[in-house]
Amino acid sequence: MSKISIIIPCFNEEGNINILAEKLQNILSEYKYEIIFIDDGSTDKSLQIIKEISFADDRIKYISFTRNFGHQNALKAGIDNASGDCVISLDADLQHPPELIPEMIKYWEENYDVVYTQRLDQKKESFFKKISSRIFYKIINKLSDVKIESGTADYRLINRNVIEVIKQIDDTDLFLRGLIPWSGFKSKKIVYTPNERFSGKTKYSIRKMFSLGLNGITSFSIKPLRISIFIGLIFSILAFLYVIFAVYKYFFTNDTVEGWTSMLASTMLIGGIQLIMLGIIGEYLGKLFMQSKKRPNYIIKDKSTN
Ligand code: UDP
Ligand code: MG
Repeated sequence: MSKISIIIPCFNEEGNINILAEKLQNILSEYKYEIIFIDDGSTDKSLQIIKEISFADDRIKYISFTRNFGHQNALKAGIDNASGDCVISLDADLQHPPELIPEMIKYWEENYDVVYTQRLDQKKESFFKKISSRIFYKIINKLSDVKIESGTADYRLINRNVIEVIKQIDDTDLFLRGLIPWSGFKSKKIVYTPNERFSGKTKYSIRKMFSLGLNGITSFSIKPLRISIFIGLIFSILAFLYVIFAVYKYFFTNDTVEGWTSMLASTMLIGGIQLIMLGIIGEYLGKLFMQSKKRPNYIIKDKSTN
């Protein structure tokens, strides 16, 4: 009988772990499975709770990080340490309904390599989250070569073929939502309505969301660099025309002192654009710098998997 690994990143999820584990145990009772909780540097009782339930049931395992390394790295640790024939990742907060798992397994048994999920747009979600997520998917699909469908988060099943590919990838800034479509395996989509977060608040701060978004774009596309060349060109042409105009004024008219306002405005504008372009270059340079150090994605303090 094949074995299923469930991986669950947890960052301060003390109110969710018990109920999620219980639900999973019920749903998975007919299967051979393991559940791996990855404690991403929680400061609440999460790790203690995970250890308690793992003590009572040896199919429940844990990996605990020395500090908070982020959701994507926690998922990577789960994939690296899973011993099953497939891995299903889901959030700890019960927004990803575990009831979908049997359907995911069914498609896996029909030989799909990836079974991913797409959430239906939800009225309950905050306005900011909805808008920012929509803008993000618009931009990334315009800029990058991989297509990422909107509303596809990290609730998915991947089989051994995909697991082995992901294990080999050593991107410093992981973006699994892009990597998995990029890998090109045979995929099946399931649509679902997300639940509300069961307990606690979102662990994705605006800063973390922004950095995930920027990362998704810069990991899969160098088009922003090309756009900066393009904008640079346009402004060079405009500047050239303006120089011709200024020279004409100097030689053929008498009103060369006026134009202070337009001078100031154009200097400010071009200065601003230069800073943005430098920022874009800096972003990629920084990525290169971080990657060149080859630091591990996460550091494990303690674990119960092999
Ligand atoms: N998470 C994590 N590390 C982090 C942030 C989040 O492991 O630094 C986990 C979190 O515990 C949850 C999942 O990632 O299981 C998704 O986070 P959350 O539900 O807070 O995000 P949202 O659903 O609000 O986008
Ligand atoms: Mg959530």
